[in-house]
Amino acid sequence: MKNFTTPIGAFLLALVIVGCATVAETGRRQILLINSSEEMKLGMTEFDKLKQSTPVSKDAAASAMVRRVGQRIAAVAPLPEAQWEFVLFDDPKTANAFCLPGGKVGVYSGILPICQSETGLAVVVGHEIAHAVARHGAERMSHGLLAEMGGKVLAEAMKARPEATQKLVMQSYSIGAQVGVLLPYSRSQEYEADHLGMIYMARAGYDPAETVAFWKRFSGTQAQPAGLMGKLQGYLSTHPVNADRIAQLEQLLPKARAEYKSAAR
Ligand SMILES: [Zn+2]
Repeated sequence: MKNFTTPIGAFLLALVIVGCATVAETGRRQILLINSSEEMKLGMTEFDKLKQSTPVSKDAAASAMVRRVGQRIAAVAPLPEAQWEFVLFDDPKTANAFCLPGGKVGVYSGILPICQSETGLAVVVGHEIAHAVARHGAERMSHGLLAEMGGKVLAEAMKARPEATQKLVMQSYSIGAQVGVLLPYSRSQEYEADHLGMIYMARAGYDPAETVAFWKRFSGTQAQPAGLMGKLQGYLSTHPVNADRIAQLEQLLPKARAEYKSAAR
Protein backbone atom coordinates (compact mmCIF):
# COMPACT_ATOMS: atom_id res chain seq x y z
CA MET A 1 0.00 0.00 0.00
CA LYS A 2 3.07 2.22 0.16
CA ASN A 3 2.58 3.48 -3.38
CA PHE A 4 -0.72 4.95 -2.39
CA THR A 5 0.74 7.55 -0.06
CA THR A 6 1.61 9.91 -2.92
CA PRO A 7 -1.11 12.10 -4.46
CA ILE A 8 -0.97 10.12 -7.71
CA GLY A 9 -1.08 6.88 -5.74
CA ALA A 10 -4.07 8.12 -3.78
CA PHE A 11 -5.73 9.10 -7.02
CA LEU A 12 -5.16 5.63 -8.50
CA LEU A 13 -6.45 4.02 -5.33
CA ALA A 14 -9.50 6.24 -5.47
CA LEU A 15 -10.14 5.20 -9.04
CA VAL A 16 -9.96 1.56 -8.02
CA ILE A 17 -12.32 2.02 -5.08
CA VAL A 18 -14.80 4.49 -6.49
CA GLY A 19 -13.65 5.23 -10.00
CA CYS A 20 -15.89 5.40 -12.99
CA ALA A 21 -19.65 5.19 -12.87
CA THR A 22 -22.35 5.31 -15.52
CA VAL A 23 -25.37 7.61 -15.41
CA ALA A 24 -28.61 5.62 -15.72
CA GLU A 25 -30.78 6.41 -18.77
CA THR A 26 -28.19 8.53 -20.60
CA GLY A 27 -25.29 6.04 -20.25
CA ARG A 28 -22.66 8.76 -19.82
CA ARG A 29 -19.45 7.72 -17.97
CA GLN A 30 -18.31 9.85 -15.04
CA ILE A 31 -15.45 9.95 -12.52
CA LEU A 32 -16.53 9.83 -8.87
CA LEU A 33 -14.11 10.08 -5.94
CA ILE A 34 -16.87 9.98 -3.34
CA ASN A 35 -19.25 7.10 -2.67
CA SER A 36 -23.02 7.33 -2.29
CA SER A 37 -23.25 6.83 1.46
CA GLU A 38 -20.49 9.38 2.13
CA GLU A 39 -22.27 11.77 -0.19
CA MET A 40 -25.64 11.24 1.47
CA LYS A 41 -24.22 11.89 4.92
CA LEU A 42 -22.67 15.08 3.60
CA GLY A 43 -25.99 16.22 2.12
CA MET A 44 -27.84 15.69 5.39
CA THR A 45 -25.23 17.57 7.41
CA GLU A 46 -25.12 20.54 5.03
CA PHE A 47 -28.90 20.75 4.87
CA ASP A 48 -29.17 20.83 8.66
CA LYS A 49 -26.59 23.62 8.80
CA LEU A 50 -28.41 25.55 6.13
CA LYS A 51 -31.73 25.34 7.96
CA GLN A 52 -30.04 26.90 10.96
CA SER A 53 -28.33 29.70 9.06
CA THR A 54 -31.04 30.66 6.55
CA PRO A 55 -34.58 31.65 7.54
CA VAL A 56 -37.28 29.27 6.34
CA SER A 57 -40.17 31.00 4.53
CA LYS A 58 -43.27 31.85 6.55
CA ASP A 59 -45.36 31.94 3.37
CA ALA A 60 -47.57 28.89 4.01
CA ALA A 61 -49.07 28.73 0.51
CA ALA A 62 -45.73 28.99 -1.31
CA SER A 63 -44.12 26.48 1.07
CA ALA A 64 -46.99 24.06 0.48
CA MET A 65 -46.50 24.47 -3.29
CA VAL A 66 -42.79 23.63 -2.96
CA ARG A 67 -43.66 20.51 -0.93
CA ARG A 68 -46.39 19.46 -3.37
CA VAL A 69 -44.17 19.81 -6.45
CA GLY A 70 -41.30 18.10 -4.64
CA GLN A 71 -43.36 15.14 -3.47
CA ARG A 72 -44.90 14.57 -6.91
CA ILE A 73 -41.48 14.56 -8.59
CA ALA A 74 -39.85 12.53 -5.80
CA ALA A 75 -42.48 9.83 -6.36
CA VAL A 76 -41.13 9.21 -9.89
CA ALA A 77 -37.41 10.01 -9.46
CA PRO A 78 -35.08 7.05 -8.87
CA LEU A 79 -33.19 8.19 -5.77
CA PRO A 80 -33.12 5.11 -3.56
CA GLU A 81 -32.79 5.62 0.17
CA ALA A 82 -33.64 9.30 -0.15
CA GLN A 83 -35.07 10.93 2.95
CA TRP A 84 -36.98 13.58 1.09
CA GLU A 85 -37.44 17.06 2.47
CA PHE A 86 -38.57 20.19 0.62
CA VAL A 87 -37.86 23.57 2.15
CA LEU A 88 -38.62 27.06 0.87
CA PHE A 89 -36.00 29.49 2.19
CA ASP A 90 -36.92 33.12 2.70
CA ASP A 91 -34.31 34.83 0.55
CA PRO A 92 -35.88 37.00 -2.16
CA LYS A 93 -32.47 38.17 -3.37
CA THR A 94 -31.33 34.66 -4.26
CA ALA A 95 -32.75 33.01 -7.35
CA ASN A 96 -31.54 29.48 -6.86
CA ALA A 97 -32.54 25.96 -5.91
CA PHE A 98 -30.70 22.73 -5.24
CA CYS A 99 -31.18 19.09 -4.36
CA LEU A 100 -28.56 17.64 -2.04
CA PRO A 101 -27.74 13.94 -2.03
CA GLY A 102 -30.18 12.18 0.26
CA GLY A 103 -33.14 14.03 -1.23
CA LYS A 104 -32.83 17.36 0.56
CA VAL A 105 -34.37 20.00 -1.70
CA GLY A 106 -33.97 23.71 -1.02
CA VAL A 107 -35.68 26.48 -2.98
CA TYR A 108 -34.80 30.15 -2.41
CA SER A 109 -37.83 32.43 -2.63
CA GLY A 110 -36.04 34.63 -5.19
CA ILE A 111 -36.58 32.03 -7.88
CA LEU A 112 -40.39 31.95 -7.55
CA PRO A 113 -40.99 35.10 -9.69
CA ILE A 114 -38.98 33.46 -12.49
CA CYS A 115 -40.92 30.20 -12.19
CA GLN A 116 -44.19 32.13 -12.53
CA SER A 117 -46.35 29.06 -11.78
CA GLU A 118 -46.40 25.63 -10.14
CA THR A 119 -45.43 24.07 -13.48
CA GLY A 120 -42.50 26.49 -13.76
CA LEU A 121 -41.41 25.43 -10.28
CA ALA A 122 -41.69 21.79 -11.41
CA VAL A 123 -39.14 22.59 -14.15
CA VAL A 124 -36.65 23.82 -11.55
CA VAL A 125 -37.28 21.08 -8.97
CA GLY A 126 -37.27 18.33 -11.64
CA HIS A 127 -34.01 19.67 -13.04
CA GLU A 128 -32.35 19.90 -9.61
CA ILE A 129 -33.50 16.42 -8.55
CA ALA A 130 -32.10 15.14 -11.87
CA HIS A 131 -28.71 16.68 -11.01
CA ALA A 132 -28.82 14.70 -7.74
CA VAL A 133 -29.93 11.43 -9.35
CA ALA A 134 -27.08 11.69 -11.88
CA ARG A 135 -24.70 12.64 -9.02
CA HIS A 136 -23.46 15.79 -10.74
CA GLY A 137 -22.49 17.44 -7.44
CA ALA A 138 -20.26 14.47 -6.58
CA GLU A 139 -18.81 14.65 -10.07
CA ARG A 140 -18.02 18.36 -9.73
CA MET A 141 -16.51 17.71 -6.32
CA SER A 142 -14.41 14.87 -7.73
CA HIS A 143 -13.03 17.19 -10.40
CA GLY A 144 -12.27 19.72 -7.66
CA LEU A 145 -10.54 17.05 -5.57
CA LEU A 146 -8.43 16.14 -8.59
CA ALA A 147 -7.52 19.74 -9.33
CA GLU A 148 -7.04 21.11 -5.83
CA MET A 149 -6.26 18.17 -3.57
CA GLY A 150 -4.13 16.02 -5.83
CA GLY A 151 -6.87 13.45 -6.27
CA LYS A 152 -7.41 12.68 -2.59
CA VAL A 153 -10.64 10.87 -1.83
CA LEU A 154 -13.04 12.98 0.18
CA ALA A 155 -12.37 11.53 3.63
CA GLU A 156 -8.63 12.06 3.21
CA ALA A 157 -9.03 15.56 1.78
CA MET A 158 -11.25 16.53 4.72
CA LYS A 159 -8.58 15.44 7.16
CA ALA A 160 -5.78 17.21 5.30
CA ARG A 161 -7.51 20.51 4.46
CA PRO A 162 -10.89 20.71 6.16
CA GLU A 163 -11.68 24.33 5.25
CA ALA A 164 -10.77 24.00 1.58
CA THR A 165 -12.78 20.79 1.35
CA GLN A 166 -15.79 22.39 3.00
CA LYS A 167 -15.68 25.26 0.50
CA LEU A 168 -15.45 22.76 -2.35
CA VAL A 169 -18.51 20.92 -1.03
CA MET A 170 -20.54 24.15 -0.84
CA GLN A 171 -19.48 25.18 -4.34
CA SER A 172 -20.08 21.76 -5.87
CA TYR A 173 -23.60 21.43 -4.49
CA SER A 174 -24.48 25.06 -5.28
CA ILE A 175 -25.35 25.79 -1.67
CA GLY A 176 -24.53 28.83 0.38
CA ALA A 177 -24.08 31.93 -1.74
CA GLN A 178 -21.62 33.11 0.93
CA VAL A 179 -18.85 30.91 -0.46
CA GLY A 180 -18.64 33.15 -3.51
CA VAL A 181 -18.34 31.49 -6.89
CA LEU A 182 -20.42 28.36 -7.35
CA LEU A 183 -19.14 25.83 -9.85
CA PRO A 184 -21.08 25.89 -13.11
CA TYR A 185 -22.43 22.58 -14.36
CA SER A 186 -20.82 21.33 -17.55
CA ARG A 187 -22.80 21.28 -20.77
CA SER A 188 -23.16 17.51 -20.68
CA GLN A 189 -24.43 17.68 -17.08
CA GLU A 190 -26.92 20.41 -17.96
CA TYR A 191 -28.16 18.45 -20.93
CA GLU A 192 -28.52 15.36 -18.78
CA ALA A 193 -30.43 17.24 -16.06
CA ASP A 194 -32.70 18.80 -18.69
CA HIS A 195 -33.35 15.40 -20.21
CA LEU A 196 -34.06 13.58 -16.92
CA GLY A 197 -35.86 16.54 -15.33
CA MET A 198 -38.25 16.81 -18.26
CA ILE A 199 -39.10 13.11 -18.02
CA TYR A 200 -39.63 13.31 -14.24
CA MET A 201 -41.92 16.33 -14.41
CA ALA A 202 -43.92 14.70 -17.21
CA ARG A 203 -44.33 11.49 -15.19
CA ALA A 204 -45.39 13.60 -12.22
CA GLY A 205 -48.16 15.11 -14.34
CA TYR A 206 -46.66 18.53 -15.19
CA ASP A 207 -46.59 19.64 -18.84
CA PRO A 208 -42.92 19.44 -19.91
CA ALA A 209 -43.48 22.08 -22.60
CA GLU A 210 -42.96 24.60 -19.78
CA THR A 211 -39.28 23.57 -19.71
CA VAL A 212 -38.67 25.14 -23.11
CA ALA A 213 -40.60 28.28 -22.11
CA PHE A 214 -38.74 28.54 -18.79
CA TRP A 215 -35.22 28.33 -20.28
CA LYS A 216 -36.20 30.68 -23.09
CA ARG A 217 -37.09 33.20 -20.40
CA PHE A 218 -33.61 32.60 -18.99
CA SER A 219 -31.74 32.77 -22.27
CA GLY A 220 -32.67 36.42 -22.56
CA THR A 221 -34.40 35.93 -25.89
CA GLN A 222 -37.52 37.34 -24.32
CA ALA A 223 -38.08 40.63 -22.56
CA GLN A 224 -37.63 40.36 -18.78
CA PRO A 225 -39.74 42.11 -16.18
CA ALA A 226 -37.84 44.98 -14.56
CA GLY A 227 -35.45 43.93 -11.80
CA LEU A 228 -35.43 40.29 -12.84
CA MET A 229 -32.25 40.30 -14.89
CA GLY A 230 -29.90 40.54 -11.89
CA LYS A 231 -31.58 37.55 -10.28
CA LEU A 232 -31.41 35.60 -13.52
CA GLN A 233 -27.65 35.98 -13.51
CA GLY A 234 -27.44 34.05 -10.24
CA TYR A 235 -29.07 30.90 -11.57
CA LEU A 236 -27.48 31.34 -14.99
CA SER A 237 -23.98 31.32 -13.53
CA THR A 238 -24.42 27.69 -12.45
CA HIS A 239 -26.82 26.70 -15.24
CA PRO A 240 -25.49 28.22 -18.48
CA VAL A 241 -28.05 28.37 -21.24
CA ASN A 242 -27.57 29.03 -24.94
CA ALA A 243 -29.29 28.41 -28.28
CA ASP A 244 -27.90 24.84 -28.52
CA ARG A 245 -29.45 23.98 -25.21
CA ILE A 246 -32.86 25.35 -26.21
CA ALA A 247 -32.65 23.35 -29.45
CA GLN A 248 -31.87 20.18 -27.48
CA LEU A 249 -34.81 20.83 -25.16
CA GLU A 250 -37.10 21.17 -28.15
CA GLN A 251 -35.77 17.89 -29.50
CA LEU A 252 -36.54 16.11 -26.20
CA LEU A 253 -40.03 17.54 -25.94
CA PRO A 254 -41.99 14.97 -28.04
CA LYS A 255 -40.67 12.07 -25.92
CA ALA A 256 -41.44 13.94 -22.69
CA ARG A 257 -44.92 14.93 -23.89
CA ALA A 258 -45.69 11.27 -24.65
CA GLU A 259 -44.80 10.48 -21.01
CA TYR A 260 -46.99 13.36 -19.87
CA LYS A 261 -49.98 12.06 -21.85
CA SER A 262 -49.64 8.53 -20.52
CA ALA A 263 -49.26 9.90 -16.96
CA ALA A 264 -52.50 11.87 -17.40
CA ARG A 265 -54.47 8.77 -18.33
ZN1 LIG B 1 -28.63 22.55 -14.03
